[in-house]
Amino acid sequence: MATRTRTTQENPVELPLRLEGGPKPVPGCAHCDNVAMERDRAQANGDGSRRSDCNVRMARHLADAHG
Ligand SMILES: [Zn+2]
Repeated sequence: MATRTRTTQENPVELPLRLEGGPKPVPGCAHCDNVAMERDRAQANGDGSRRSDCNVRMARHLADAHG
């Protein structure tokens, strides 16, 4: 029984947008798409304040245009 040393291959897989609870973009809406893309980018950059700013803008736009 040879115990092999495990190489650290575990990628911390984070599911974007799943656990955030932010507003969801409406499919087909360019404005939603823009904000969602910016939010994704902020998320990827670890920019939490910008991400929540995008969430606020998304929520406001959803209420304005889709509410
Ligand atoms: Zn929209």
